[in-house]
Amino acid sequence: MTQICRFGAQVIAFGLTAAGYNRLVDINAIPPYLFVASVVLAGMFFCGWACPFGAAQEWLRFLGRRLSRANANIPNPLHRYLSLSRYILWLFFLLVSVHTTGLSINSRVTFLSVFSGRGIGRFALCFMGLMLFLSLFMDRPYCKYLCVRGAGRGVVGILRVFTVKRQRDKCIGCQACDKACPMGIEISTAGDLRTASCINCLRCVARCPAKGTLKFGLAVLRIRDLRDAIKRYFPTVQYKK
Ligand code: SF4
Ligand code: SF4
Repeated sequence: MTQICRFGAQVIAFGLTAAGYNRLVDINAIPPYLFVASVVLAGMFFCGWACPFGAAQEWLRFLGRRLSRANANIPNPLHRYLSLSRYILWLFFLLVSVHTTGLSINSRVTFLSVFSGRGIGRFALCFMGLMLFLSLFMDRPYCKYLCVRGAGRGVVGILRVFTVKRQRDKCIGCQACDKACPMGIEISTAGDLRTASCINCLRCVARCPAKGTLKFGLAVLRIRDLRDAIKRYFPTVQYKK
């Protein structure tokens, strides 16, 4: 049911964005503090429920699964190292004060520009095409490895008030949650999930066969979870179940 609601939200957001970029509705009327509040409360909800480029990657993956069994998802621990790339990019852009909007590798912006019919460079179009093509065989490649906007939100989202919580004593260790996660997060080793990557798609919750083990809810911020958030990116660290 959650996944149907999420699909509905993505379709509405897609439509609103297309209408907004064509000046049919005023998307600037949405107060920016709503985004900030949503990140502080629950991290990257926007990425999982409303980003048109995120939705496009997800829908293509759905199609790709039906066309072929090919799976180009990069397994852990390599994925964990590679997923640092978007934070490195984010820091780089912050430090050198480059605005990423005009950059050719910012496929999210390229994709939105397509809606408005604005002139787009050939390289930017090709790069976006590559990301969309990869999405047929890999879950959200752009979100996982290149989205600077998502990286910024994600870092703030580590401190989120609501998150996915795993009841360790109920978990049967089947790892269905890990396989379902489009962001390559190992939920099966987490407690209260504090990672900069979770987009709140709640697929893990939907797939967990042990009822009540995974829940989305209020989570008290503990130092242990923050330590876990950092360790999560370094495969040499062994997690306690
Ligand atoms: S941890 Fe769960 S909610 Fe977060 S991105 Fe992965 S599947 Fe979605
Ligand atoms: S899907 Fe549920 S039971 Fe299986 S490892 Fe994940 S949290 Fe544990």
